[in-house]
Amino acid sequence: MRASRVSAAYGAKVAIAEDHLFGGTCVNVGCIPKKLFSYAAHWREEFEIAQAYGWSTGEPQFHWPTLLANKDKEIARLNAVYERLLSAAGVEIIRGRATVVDPHTVEVNGRRYRTRHILIATGSWPVIPPIDGREHAISSNEAFHLQKLPERALVVGGGYIALEFASIFHGLGVKTTLSYRGQRLLRGFDADLGERIAEEMTHKGVNVHFGGEPGKIIKHADSLEVCYTDGPHQATELVLFATGRKPNTAKLGLERVGVQLAPDGAVVVDRYSRSTVESIHAIGDVTNRINLTPVATAEAMWLARTLFRGEPTPVDHENVPTAVFANPHLATVGLSEEKARERYGAIDIYKTYFRPLKLTLTEKKERVFMKLVVDQKTQRVVGAHMIGPDAGEIVQGIAIAVKAGATKAQFDATIGIHPTIAEEFVTMREKAL
Ligand SMILES: Cc1cc2nc3c(=O)[nH]c(=O)nc-3n(C[C@H](O)[C@H](O)[C@H](O)COP(=O)(O)OP(=O)(O)OC[C@H]3O[C@@H](n4cnc5c(N)ncnc54)[C@H](O)[C@@H]3O)c2cc1C
Repeated sequence: MRASRVSAAYGAKVAIAEDHLFGGTCVNVGCIPKKLFSYAAHWREEFEIAQAYGWSTGEPQFHWPTLLANKDKEIARLNAVYERLLSAAGVEIIRGRATVVDPHTVEVNGRRYRTRHILIATGSWPVIPPIDGREHAISSNEAFHLQKLPERALVVGGGYIALEFASIFHGLGVKTTLSYRGQRLLRGFDADLGERIAEEMTHKGVNVHFGGEPGKIIKHADSLEVCYTDGPHQATELVLFATGRKPNTAKLGLERVGVQLAPDGAVVVDRYSRSTVESIHAIGDVTNRINLTPVATAEAMWLARTLFRGEPTPVDHENVPTAVFANPHLATVGLSEEKARERYGAIDIYKTYFRPLKLTLTEKKERVFMKLVVDQKTQRVVGAHMIGPDAGEIVQGIAIAVKAGATKAQFDATIGIHPTIAEEFVTMREKAL
């Protein structure tokens, strides 16, 4: 959508083929409905905290059908907005599944369209491992349309989607287990984040289980029995696999025209998002680079600039900030401690771990964690990591400083906003050993 609109604004004649709903994964079964569910799940704690501030709220009741209906209404509104934006930009909308016939021809519903450039932005699809009983499990796609909330849920996976759904279910009152076959959540993130988020989620009441993975699911009359590869069995009503996604390139006709695919099915592209066929480009999840919406839209704008404004613009995947909307929230920008050591050798680490002011009137034990990773030689802050309320909102601001190459001394010279959680990012003085 972004590539279509921006290319049209640069004067290109653009058509877009879509076989489902406008807005793609993010709007329909990703970021947006997920964040709405996450807001819903956080309310339970807010009601509890409110009591320490003198409010009496009675026994809060949660009604899943109301959330579902309101969410669906908002998503339908967004679908319409997106479609209107495309039309307003002068983009021709073609409804149906597209396949590539040759380097300059796309076919939709039996009709062929000739074009100078073809852009593949078909996204990705969740994968459920081929275990016995997999048909009884769901992926994140179905989790957005459950008719009824289960009493118990098992979420499988250690990535951000797994953590987010485990937190959502738990917050909405479902007895939730998060099962991950590794030993640390959030592979690829700073190790402290993976370890501490597991602790925080456990404190809140999510049953976090490391080690085995479901090897079989047996359906009983009103429950599912999950048999783990390392022995135990677990009864539950819902199993959600969030164990990975696969680029959507099957049966698109790409290999036939010479577009190289990686072993995982991703379109192989260069720094300008060009595939191995000159006239075919690919952006977003289908390239399996950094699978986030703002990255996909940035790739779209860089590509439009390259093709239609005469400004060759390579992708810039450095210092992409990201958040995990688990409970508590987590956000990060730049390098983990491990990656920074690999790249720079000598680094300085600053950490803080504290109980936020808002919770001091309550019995809640949740603590905020913040960490800065600094290249010792240049004193540039090369990584900023946080677990705590509004982490995404806070790290978005910090990301500007990291992207701009700010030094630790510049962080220190910045006056804090008091009293906030965010001010700790500019008041960390003691190096961690
Ligand atoms: C549960 C979940 C939560 C997420 N949360 C976040 C988040 O909080 N923040 C974030 O930044 N990212 C998040 N993401 C990731 C984000 O949704 C993706 O990175 C983003 O949607 C990728 O955009 P895209 O344009 O590459 O693909 P998509 O959004 O998947 O769009 C691809 C489109 O192509 C269409 N299509 C596919 N094949 C064809 C065909 N042959 N013909 C015609 N149309 C076709 C599809 O119907 C779809 O509309 C989340 C993802 C999931 C699954």
